[in-house]
Amino acid sequence: MTIEYSVLPDPTITCQNCQACCCRLEVRLLTDTGVPQYFITENAHHVEVMKRHADGWCAALDRNTLMCTIYAYRPLVCREFEMGSYECKIERAEVLGITD
Ligand code: SF4
Ligand code: SF4
Repeated sequence: MTIEYSVLPDPTITCQNCQACCCRLEVRLLTDTGVPQYFITENAHHVEVMKRHADGWCAALDRNTLMCTIYAYRPLVCREFEMGSYECKIERAEVLGITD
């Protein structure tokens, strides 16, 4: 798998043809954005993270629409994860096998 690095996000990439690949990553809660407590757990290092279910996706993801159900309260990490960025491309490649 080869993903070309670029400082600028790739404008051809959109969440519309993705499957919320980045919502399978561990999301640490670095600040309080109002995430409901029932979506929060602790990882092995006792750091607060978003809960994930057995399918790997975040507990706050709607499995039918693949949309975030707490969008207005989503963690800082989610707000800063940029569509079309290098990290986004890595997740798409790993989950979907897309290397656009
Ligand atoms: S991996 Fe990228 S394209 Fe897919 S949902 Fe996340 S930000 Fe959007
Ligand atoms: S909080 Fe929302 S945006 Fe963040 S990983 Fe969960 S479903 Fe995705």
